[in-house]
Amino acid sequence: MGLFGRRKTVFVDADILVIGGGMAGCGATYESRYWGRDLKIVCVEKANIERSGAVAQGLYAINCYMGMQWGENQPEDHVRYARNDLMGLVREDLGYDIARHVDATVHKFEEWGLPIMRDPKTGRYQREGKWQIMIHGESYKPIVAEAARKAATQIYNRIMVTHLLMDKSKANRVAGAVGFNVRTGDFHVFRAKAVIVCAGGASHIFKPRAVGEGMGRTWYAPWSSASAYALPIEVGAKMTQMENRIVLTRFKDGYGPVGAYFLHLKTYTQNGYGEEYESKWYNHTKELVGDYIDRHPVPTCLRNHAFLEETKAGRGPIRMVTKEAFQDPHKETVGWENFLGMTIGQAVVWASQNIDPKYINPELTTSEPYVMGSHATCSGAWASGPEDCAPDEYQWGYNRMMTVDGLFGAGDTIGGTAHKFSSGSYTEGRIAAKAAVRYVNDLGKAPPEVSEQEYRGLERAIYEPLENYRVGRNEIVAGTVSPSYLLPIHGLQRLEKIMDEYVGGIGANYMTNSKLLDRGLELLAMLREDMSHMGAEDLHQLQRVWELNHRLLASESVTRHTLFRKETRWPGYYYRGDHMKLDDENWHCFTLSRYDRDTGNWDMEKAPVYHIID
Ligand SMILES: Cc1cc2nc3c(=O)[nH]c(=O)nc-3n(C[C@H](O)[C@H](O)[C@H](O)COP(=O)(O)OP(=O)(O)OC[C@H]3O[C@@H](n4cnc5c(N)ncnc54)[C@H](O)[C@@H]3O)c2cc1C
Repeated sequence: MGLFGRRKTVFVDADILVIGGGMAGCGATYESRYWGRDLKIVCVEKANIERSGAVAQGLYAINCYMGMQWGENQPEDHVRYARNDLMGLVREDLGYDIARHVDATVHKFEEWGLPIMRDPKTGRYQREGKWQIMIHGESYKPIVAEAARKAATQIYNRIMVTHLLMDKSKANRVAGAVGFNVRTGDFHVFRAKAVIVCAGGASHIFKPRAVGEGMGRTWYAPWSSASAYALPIEVGAKMTQMENRIVLTRFKDGYGPVGAYFLHLKTYTQNGYGEEYESKWYNHTKELVGDYIDRHPVPTCLRNHAFLEETKAGRGPIRMVTKEAFQDPHKETVGWENFLGMTIGQAVVWASQNIDPKYINPELTTSEPYVMGSHATCSGAWASGPEDCAPDEYQWGYNRMMTVDGLFGAGDTIGGTAHKFSSGSYTEGRIAAKAAVRYVNDLGKAPPEVSEQEYRGLERAIYEPLENYRVGRNEIVAGTVSPSYLLPIHGLQRLEKIMDEYVGGIGANYMTNSKLLDRGLELLAMLREDMSHMGAEDLHQLQRVWELNHRLLASESVTRHTLFRKETRWPGYYYRGDHMKLDDENWHCFTLSRYDRDTGNWDMEKAPVYHIID
């Protein structure tokens, strides 16, 4: 046993277990306490909730705020906006549910000390755009985490959750989770009546633009490792819209956000020859997607599409015209501050590349694809909707409960609800928690039980890579390559290469087809076979192994969904070369999958899209 001979097993009992203490997880933890005064509320996080998740380094804007107190927008408006941006396909019941509650969440943030900028003339929150308000958000996450810390019975930081546990007597009911402490190596068994998965989105599924020494530089947080998808997939929860990966237009090499530039500073883009180019692609895009190109605002994916086509036509690089706006000292300050509160790296990149946006228009790029459920995209778990407005077909129990009993989700985890962002994810955590408390109260005297055989079996599997390394390293004569094991970095690079080349990454100009996808699935299956040979040098590498496992399962789901949807619904996010056009007649629907871990089969089906808002 060596180094880990003294590894303990720690048992934790909870009424509600929240997995992931990011925005949604903090919301779920806070709200669980509100409705469940006497309940045992436990939040488990692989980092430290003080600075974990996609909001770790702060934000400059809250991107989802209605402003109902001033009559600025109504929830219905937000549903229309999200529906339009996602080319018609969103769960309107879930989106409406978030939109009607999100303002109350933002008011709480302000009460807790988050500085929100105000318009000096109106006294209202300073708008960056129709939905965005501007904040001094460097400490956004610590502020939100403090409320969760005070609400929780206990927060377990530094524990990577690897698997969910199922009830030993009732099929399809969750009973808890297992994981390990990434610092001490202790094995943790969480027994819980309800579980809320809030484990964020997925980066590093597709090969990133920055490789080698720049590898950690991605737009979505590099530590977002697809646990939000893999954990539910593995226990048979249905997933939806997993093909709907997102590609972002961002400032080149630093992934600095462009929202404040477009919306607040009123900057605009040009091709390499200083020409406006978007309108040139109007007819071509209309051929592919019909009237969706005439919608306002133009859907995010279609704006990417014009960018990509212009670049393919040899007229790059695309630049953001900042030189005009930056002559105004106020706008210049806002432009820089925008990065200081959120993406300092972009300011550093510009400094290191001699780019002063007052004199040089900086280059833009399109990112590699990411999988997530809270931005201009809506991959994730298929969840039951709110009682008062979800169509019958979308309701099978408790709000935000997945198709597994007692298993809830929020934020990036839940599919079909784009444009929730930080505030909407937190709000969805609150919504899920309220329903989970009700579920726990309704359970009464029949709580789930975990099986010792199951968690001991998982324990062996979880730590096996340490043993593989200990034995296999004796065969290394030089470097890091062993004939007996794969290191997590090798597995990750192999995964990214498969996804990039076969499933529509940057290397393939976001293009794929059924032949490529079929081959991609074969290669993913071979990688899956090799996962039992992973070697981990230490606990840090062991975490990387399990992150890779989660990324791999989520990638397979993305590939299956992409194969199933025989159309190009979101040009600019990806293209099916064998079905280049949007096909509303056959594909104005959600795609659903269910994985069976016993057989390894994936069942695919369509689900109807109900438009409940006119
Ligand atoms: C670069 C960038 C810019 C953004 N800009 C804005 C913006 O300007 N305005 C805005 O409102 N929103 C913005 N967002 C979106 C916002 O950050 C997300 O919508 C939100 O954080 C999603 O919440 P979440 O709880 O689902 O995920 P996260 O907040 O990412 O939380 C997930 C948590 O789960 C933990 N976790 C993951 N796996 C495990 C595991 N296996 N075991 C235990 N814990 C685990 C993670 O460590 C993390 O703490 C931005 C996001 C990014 C990446």
